[in-house]
Amino acid sequence: MIGLILIAIKQVAAFLLYRSGLLHLWIRWKFGNRALVVMYHRVLDSGTDLSQSGIVVQTNTFEKQLLQLRGMFSMVPLSDAIHHEGGGFRCAITFDDGWADNHRFAFPVLKRLGLPATLFITTGYIGTQRLFWPECLAYILQRHDEQVDALIESLKNVPEQTREDFLDQQARLHNRPLLPSETRMLSWDQVRDLKKQGFDIGSHTVNHVLLNHATPELVEKELGESRDQITTQLWEPPQSFAYPNGNWNPVLAESVRKAGYSYAVTTESPWKIPENTNPVFAIPRKNLCEGSSNGLFGFSASIFACEAVGFFDWCRRP
Ligand SMILES: [Zn+2]
Repeated sequence: MIGLILIAIKQVAAFLLYRSGLLHLWIRWKFGNRALVVMYHRVLDSGTDLSQSGIVVQTNTFEKQLLQLRGMFSMVPLSDAIHHEGGGFRCAITFDDGWADNHRFAFPVLKRLGLPATLFITTGYIGTQRLFWPECLAYILQRHDEQVDALIESLKNVPEQTREDFLDQQARLHNRPLLPSETRMLSWDQVRDLKKQGFDIGSHTVNHVLLNHATPELVEKELGESRDQITTQLWEPPQSFAYPNGNWNPVLAESVRKAGYSYAVTTESPWKIPENTNPVFAIPRKNLCEGSSNGLFGFSASIFACEAVGFFDWCRRP
């Protein structure tokens, strides 16, 4: 009940901001000199598969969200969003991880609408059955409800080894293999196809290592090997990098630059502007998912407009 009241308040506020033109003033203020970079993960035709709802959007909602972004911004490749100052309000689309559904469901929509995008792939997962640990846990438990979500949230704060031990223990307890027989990640053929169709491919490390917790040697290895693998497979080195979980700091930004990348994206909100570092190695992005446009009666254009530009993040900030 409280949830419904909150959505109703949000809906009314968003409607007033959007229709009155106040939101447009906000966009002029925030995005007059820099682009909005949005981040998606998975695009599915139904459900959330094994993933948390915050990284999934349904194909029809995805199309509506893109159409609205196209109405509000000029849609540009990530490289243009970074290097070109001015020139109207610009927006670049990115995808993290390298999910196979990006090729199956997202790509046809992007192609139909003529929109560019950058995909950040986790090279050690490409063409394999490997799953990221939250999906792995949902696979072992064979469900993804609020309880599993709460468990995932609590596991995010424990050391990696403890988490792996817990997953092993759960797999034994539920008599499940640690990995499914089918793959949910892109194959290298699909990555090459996306590249051939004009999409940009960037690195998201080899093993989705949270670099702020890694040794300098491991950071170098993850940055270098993923770059080498992409170069070997696509015959062209990647220019862009996405920090797993968005975890970055100025030392990591310097490592990314040294590894040969030209720019890097985080997962911070668009209102945050990096300090004490070259901003092209810490470009903020806005995460978008099904919930970003959920209103009282389904898709809400005004809620999505406010969410996409980070207006509600700004209201929520500490
Ligand atoms: Zn990721």
